[in-house]
Amino acid sequence: MPELPEVEHAVRQLRRTLRGRVITRLQAHHRSQRRTLTPAVVRRVVGQRVTAVARRGKHQLVTLADGSLLLIHFRLNGDWDFGRGAAPAHARVTIELDNGLRAVLTDPRALCTITWHAADKPPLLALGPEPEDAALTPTVFRARLAARRGPIKPTLLDQSLVAGVGNIYAAEACWHAGIAPTASAPSLSLARVTRLLAGLRTALADGHINAARYHKGERTIPFKVYDREGEPCRRCGRSIRRIVQAGRGTWYCPYCQKR
Ligand SMILES: [Zn+2]
Repeated sequence: MPELPEVEHAVRQLRRTLRGRVITRLQAHHRSQRRTLTPAVVRRVVGQRVTAVARRGKHQLVTLADGSLLLIHFRLNGDWDFGRGAAPAHARVTIELDNGLRAVLTDPRALCTITWHAADKPPLLALGPEPEDAALTPTVFRARLAARRGPIKPTLLDQSLVAGVGNIYAAEACWHAGIAPTASAPSLSLARVTRLLAGLRTALADGHINAARYHKGERTIPFKVYDREGEPCRRCGRSIRRIVQAGRGTWYCPYCQKR
């Protein structure tokens, strides 16, 4: 499932392709996307110039000249395909541009979403701060965690706490910080929250490098704990354990990640 680094990489590519261009055609190929891209919406979008492409959490925001925007979410398997000519397999939406290029939203499971929002009715995303935003200091983060209940790792997945973090980077962040995924979120000391925030940023920085390398077919930085059950911890050598929290797999080192 694409998380913040993968979506950020996709947004950068989308920005390079779309920004400054006029959308000449917008076509939904699947009934899920036709429900949101109605003929009336398509009429509002076609002919407009793209003024900005941005990411917020795992959402992609394409702003049009009239201030309205297209909001895209990959969900589990979405991706972009850029180029010319016929759309690739699993094409769900095609955006054609005035320079002959097209961006195709692809998704084998057709769960990705694309919606249009008028300038006076922006989407309510209910997202917390971006984890890499300097305004998110350890003190601010600790105050946000203090209002939560339950173990830290599932808490990190809550997009209203902090935006864009998913199952992979939540587990990786806890490993970097030396904090057990089962540790109580509201009880973490400022020192531990400081390590957690730093760990989250380290994990995401690795993710940004990997997202860029992956698309070039290059080797990526191996995960520290994610999907490594039974393999040796990269810090202490003991076995990585897998547990299930809130229905999602969690990988961690029971030795060097403390409750
Ligand atoms: Zn360890």
